[in-house]
Amino acid sequence: MNTKMTKIMAVKGMNDILPTESYKWLWLEDKLKTWLFNYGYKNIRTPIVEDTRLFIRSIGEVTDIVEKEMYTFTDKLNGDSLALRPEGTAGTMRAVIEHNLLYNTTQKLWYIGQMFRHERPQKGRYRQFHQLGVEALGFASPEIDSEIILMLHDLWQLLGLKHVQLHINCLGNHDERAAHRQALIKYLEQYDGESEGEGLLDADAKRRLHTNPLRILDTKNPAMQEIVEHAPKLAEFLGDASRLHHEKWTQQLVNLNIPFIENHRLVRGLDYYNLSVFEWVDCSGSLGAQATIAAGGRYDPLVAELGGSPNYAIGFAIGVERLLLTLEESELLTPVASPDIYIINTGSNTHNYSFKVARTLRSSGFSVIQNFGESSFKAQFKKADAAAA
Ligand code: ATP
Ligand code: MG
Repeated sequence: MNTKMTKIMAVKGMNDILPTESYKWLWLEDKLKTWLFNYGYKNIRTPIVEDTRLFIRSIGEVTDIVEKEMYTFTDKLNGDSLALRPEGTAGTMRAVIEHNLLYNTTQKLWYIGQMFRHERPQKGRYRQFHQLGVEALGFASPEIDSEIILMLHDLWQLLGLKHVQLHINCLGNHDERAAHRQALIKYLEQYDGESEGEGLLDADAKRRLHTNPLRILDTKNPAMQEIVEHAPKLAEFLGDASRLHHEKWTQQLVNLNIPFIENHRLVRGLDYYNLSVFEWVDCSGSLGAQATIAAGGRYDPLVAELGGSPNYAIGFAIGVERLLLTLEESELLTPVASPDIYIINTGSNTHNYSFKVARTLRSSGFSVIQNFGESSFKAQFKKADAAAA
C-alpha cells in the first residue's frame, strides 16, 4: 500500500525559527538581557491568551488591531471569549494591577515573546511575530521619557546600527485630543466628497472620519498627503502642562545629543497613548515599507482604565524580526559559535573512554561533541570538519 499522508504545514504567516536562524536570536537575546539589566529592568512573563475584553478596552475598539487583526476565539469548554495577545502592554498592565505591583513603588519591567495579528504576510510583517517590550511604571516626570529614548539610542550603538531615525510627537491629554479631533473632523469633512479621487478622502479615511480621525494623519496614500499636510496640528491644541512636559523632554534629548525629528503626524495606532510618543525608523532601506523597528510612548491613563489607581506609565516595543532583518542586511550579526572539540574514536570500548574525556573537558568549560557509532577515522574527521570544531 502506498498511501502517503499529506503533509501538515505551518499556519500562514507563522514561521518556524530553525537552527540556521535561532542562533541569531540567542545572540541578540543575550545582548538585550545585559542591556535591560544595566538600565534596571526586570523580566515579567504573562500568558499568550487573555480575556478578549482586555484588548478591546486597552487598545481601543476602533483601532486596526481590534477591528481586523486580532485572533479571537470562544473557549468551547466554557464559552469565554479569549484572544491571542496582539501586543504585550495590555497583559503586562493587567498583571501589574492584578498583583498590586505599583503599591507605593515604581516598576521597570521587560518581556519578550510571540504576538499575533492577522495581517497580510510580507517581509517584516507576519501573523506571529516577536516583540521585546519595556514598561516603566510610576514615573511622572519627563526624565523617564528621556531615559527610554537614551536606552534605545544605546542599543543601536551597541548593535552597530547606524541608519536609524527617531520621530517624536506629543499627543497631549484627553481633552486636548478631543478639541483637536473636532477641528480635524471639520477640516477633513471638506474633502469628504461623493467619490474618491485626487484631493479627496480615500476609503480608509472615510471609514475613520468619525471614529478615529487622528489615524487619518498616519496615511501612506500619496493622493492624501496634500490634505493631511495642511490639517490642524495637535500641537496647536496643547495646554501649558503638556507643552512643558514636551519641552523638558526635547531639551533633555538635545542635552543628551540624540537627534530627533518632530513629526506632527505621528499618532500611533493604539488608543492608550498620551503625551510623549515616538518611533525609531530604519532608513537603510533593508526593511522596505515595514521600516519601524521600535515604537512606544506614554500611556498614563491606561492604569486607571484597567481598574488600577491612577498612575504613570511609559513603554515601547521592538519588533524582533525586523531588528534581526536589518542587522543581518547590515552584516552586523556575529557568526554562529562552533564547538571547541570533536572527539573521534575507534575500537571496542573507546566510547566509554570518550564519554569520560568529554565530561572532563566540559567541566573545564569546553563545548564538546562525541562521535557515536562505528565508522572509519576518515569519515569521522569529515564530520569533525563539518562541525567546525
Ligand atoms: P506597523 O505600522 O508597521 O503596522 P504598528 O504600529 O502596528 O506597526 P506596534 O503595535 O507599535 O506596530 O508594534 C511595535 C513594533 O512591532 C513595530 O514597530 C514593528 O517593529 C513590530 N510589528 C508590529 N506588527 C508586526 C507584524 N505583523 N510583524 C512583525 N513585526 C511587527
Ligand atoms: Mg500594524
